[in-house]
This record gives sequence, C-alpha cells and structure tokens, in this order.
Amino acid sequence: MSRIEMKTPLVEMDGDEMTRVIWEMIKDKLILPFVDLKTEYYDLGLKNRSDTGDTVTFESAEATRRLGVAVKCATITPNKQRIEEFDWLKKLLPSPNATIRGVLDGTVFRAPITVGNIRPIVSTWEKPITVARHAYGDIYKAVEILGDEPGVATLRFTGESGEIQEHEVAKIEGGAVFMGMHNTVQSITSFARACFEYALATNQDLWFGAKDTISKTYDGLFRDIFEAEYAGYSSRFSDQGIEYFYTLIDDAVARIMRSKGGMIWACKNYDGDVMSDMVSTAFGSLAMMTSVLVSPEGVFEYEAAHGTVTQHYYRYLKGEETSTNPVATIFAWSGALRKRGELDGISDLCGFADRLDSATLGLIEEGYVTKDLVNLVEGEATQQSTVEFLDKIAVRL
Ligand code: NAP
Ligand code: MG
Repeated sequence: MSRIEMKTPLVEMDGDEMTRVIWEMIKDKLILPFVDLKTEYYDLGLKNRSDTGDTVTFESAEATRRLGVAVKCATITPNKQRIEEFDWLKKLLPSPNATIRGVLDGTVFRAPITVGNIRPIVSTWEKPITVARHAYGDIYKAVEILGDEPGVATLRFTGESGEIQEHEVAKIEGGAVFMGMHNTVQSITSFARACFEYALATNQDLWFGAKDTISKTYDGLFRDIFEAEYAGYSSRFSDQGIEYFYTLIDDAVARIMRSKGGMIWACKNYDGDVMSDMVSTAFGSLAMMTSVLVSPEGVFEYEAAHGTVTQHYYRYLKGEETSTNPVATIFAWSGALRKRGELDGISDLCGFADRLDSATLGLIEEGYVTKDLVNLVEGEATQQSTVEFLDKIAVRL
C-alpha cells in the first residue's frame, strides 16, 4: 500500500514519561504505516530541555511560527520534588506550555472528545463545548497586600508623561486585604482575534461573558475590544452562518447549562481556569480533552489537555502493563495532520485524520476502553491495556 505524502513538515514536540511512551506507539502503530510522515523534531523531554538550557523549547516555538502547525506531547513542569528525583536537574525550568504560549501570544482552546456511550452529566449537552481561556494577567499577575492597621489604600498609575491617575481604594480600620491586577490592550486584542479566527476555522458560534456591569472600566475594556475586533470579522461570520455575542458572565453560565453545546465559550483568565474544569468533568474525563493553542496570526499547536501520567509511568518502568488512555494524544496527532492537510491542500491527509478519529471513537463505542473509562461508559465495557487498545485501533484503520 502506498503511503500518503506530505508537503510541509509538522513541528513535532516530544515530551516526558508515560505520554512519551504512548507518543512512540501512536507513531509506529497508527501513523507511519499510512502516512509518509514529515516532521521537524524537537525533543522537549525534561533531560534535553535541561541540557540545552531550555533553548530547545524556544526553538520549537519559533519553528511553529515558521511552519504553522505543531503537535506536542505532554511535558514535565519541574517542581522541587523533580529536582530531588533527577540529580542532573539543576534549575526549575519554566512550563514549556507557558513559554510556547508566550512566544506565539496564543489562546488555548479546550474541547472534550465525545462518544455515543459516554453521556455528559448535563443531559441537554449534545455537542462539545469548547472553552477558550485568556492566558495572561488578571489575578495570575496580581500584587496583594495584607493590611493589619488603620490606613488608606490607593491605586495609582504614573504615566511616562508624568501624568498621574489616582483613586482611593478603601479607608480601613485595620484588618483588610488588597489586590492590584492588570491586563494589556495587546493581550486582550490577541485573545479576541484568536477567538474569532478559531470560531471561523471550526465553524462554531462564539460567546464571550464578563462582568462589565460591575467592572465598568476593566471588564468594559474586554467587551469593547471584542466588539471593535468583531467589526473586522462580522461579514465572514454571517457568510458562514455563525454568530458572536457578548453577555454577562452569569447569564453566559446559565445559558451554557441550558444549551445543546456546540459553541466556543471565551472566558477571562480566572473564569476559563474554573469553567474548563467544570466543563471537562461534566463531559467525562480529563483523558478525553483536547487542547489547541491558536495564535492571533493563525498558527496552531495541538496537544492533549492532561499531563505525563507519572504514576502510570512508574508502573511501566517496573515492567507492569498500564491501561493509560491514549485518545487525547491520538487526537492531537489527527488534529495536527488534518490542519496540515487543509493548509497544503492534501485531502488524503485530512481523510486519514478523520478515519483515525472514527476508528478510535468506534472502538470505544464497541465497549473496548482503557481503565479510566470503564465505569463511565454505558453498557458492556472490556478493559484494555494501552497496547491492546492501540492495536485494535490499528486493525480498524
Ligand atoms: P496528569 O498527568 O494529567 O495525571 C493526573 C491523573 O489523572 C493521573 O494520575 C491519572 O489518574 C489521570 N489521568 C490523566 N491522564 C490520563 C490518561 N491519559 N489515561 C488515564 N488516566 C489519566 O497530571 P499530574 O499528575 O498532575 O501531572 C504529571 C506531570 O504532568 C507533572 O510533571 C506536570 O508538570 C505535567 N503536566 C503537563 C501538562 C502538559 O504538558 N500540558 C499538563 C498538566 C501536567 P490515576 O492515577 O488515578 O489513573
Ligand atoms: Mg485549573
């Protein structure tokens, strides 16, 4: 059988632990037999990030900007425990995802992978809900003060011109807490553009909710920037028959719960943090969530939403068979191959990505699942090891 040819390589970002093991298996069993795979390979495994002083992460992000599409394996974000675990690790390297997001100025879109025999907890949801989380600022870059005596707190901005804007926050009698947070016009604009681009790319409505009735200036700026940016997109939205609308965050929450799903829900940083966990849990399992980083120029990086599944890896190292769910990582590959196919006009590559997805979902719908899904599926379920599960997908393909 001849394999499907590619034109432009994918940026391949390898990773750590159990997901690195699964990465290799997915390529060997599900992709290489069918696709003449072209990738530009970057090893983002912790050892190589450490050996290169993390330059490999920046290089992989730059390559993504150049080539347009990347697929990323989950990676370790080191903490103190990891420094004890690996004697060669000297520095707490930053999260690769944060580095890549910073270089690409991107927004993260998370969507559940839905199957017929796993019903969402919210019974009205028929289609996946994609949460778009703004990934800069607000409480994540705030400064905080605890005041323990009577006094006054002020908020002051000193412009380079020397102009000062100042407001009293509160006079206190003692015992109070304060927070100063910010966001930037550039970051909010990038966020808005990434959301509009992604809505067009996936043909879904876009909702945005904030609290501009209370936070008239701060959340008001978010609303205004979205509205101003939308002016440049509205005709393409109506051509595609999709819509954008803004509503209060509490109204958005109520509408989401009553909806059928199938939309992108743009959230400010904190709202997105909280709501993406709610939405993913209500749809089933973290192992069934995809994540794609989209830059305002329309560059795409696909990955699974979960981490490196460390506890499974330790069992794997002891020679035990694990039943780790590879579905989100498979979908990262199919997402990237499909996007590459679209950009390069290779319909066979898009078709292969579709068949890879449906072979995977079809297997789950027949009741063959990894351990994490055994108690979630309706009807009969047969637990598979990771290898058995991947082999059965290969047979279906
Ligand atoms: P995790 O790897 O997502 O795993 C947490 C738990 O969720 C696992 O122990 C497992 O539960 C379950 N799980 C997650 N994915 C699964 C899958 N594919 N199949 C079956 N079960 C799955 O998160 P973590 O333990 O907090 O983090 C581990 C490492 O991943 C850390 O070093 C962290 O820095 C990194 N991380 C990376 C990314 C990324 O690269 N995007 C994201 C998050 C975390 P059971 O053990 O109960 O089976
Ligand atoms: Mg969270």
